[in-house]
Amino acid sequence: MFGVGQAQAGNLERMQCPFCAATDTRVIDSRPAEGGSAVRRRRGCDSCENRFTTYERSDTVLMVRKRDGSLQRFSAAKLRHGLETALAERPNADEIIGAVVDDVMIVARRQSPVVDSDEIGRAVLEALRSNDEVAYLRFVSVYKDFTGARDFEAEMASFEASDRP
Ligand SMILES: [Zn+2]
Repeated sequence: MFGVGQAQAGNLERMQCPFCAATDTRVIDSRPAEGGSAVRRRRGCDSCENRFTTYERSDTVLMVRKRDGSLQRFSAAKLRHGLETALAERPNADEIIGAVVDDVMIVARRQSPVVDSDEIGRAVLEALRSNDEVAYLRFVSVYKDFTGARDFEAEMASFEASDRP
């Protein structure tokens, strides 16, 4: 999931103080951590003078386990493309798609580093339904030839890519 104290791009030195919420914080010390895969930063707040620590890590590469057991790299771009196709003429499609992709990524990262393709399919459906009922129904209607949920989930699994976006 989301590490404590992930730095925002361009805002490295000014992470919000967890004690007083001031933004005038600074990095006191920075060093490699976790075998070099993370950076540990000791920070100080100029307002309340408390100190705190942040860790910066790269996003985990997420793998999808397909029905046949093979693993493929999860591609949010492919998921987005599939949603764009289904919701092309829907008003606010961009917003809906962004919200759905975000929701699906949260579910997927919970299972990190490997998530089942069925679980991705279910997450897409639930995210669509909670973000926009009409979009959800429209999306399902695109796949009206399917005989059931399992077929639908199998189709959703095709949104995962074997190649990089
Ligand atoms: Zn403070």
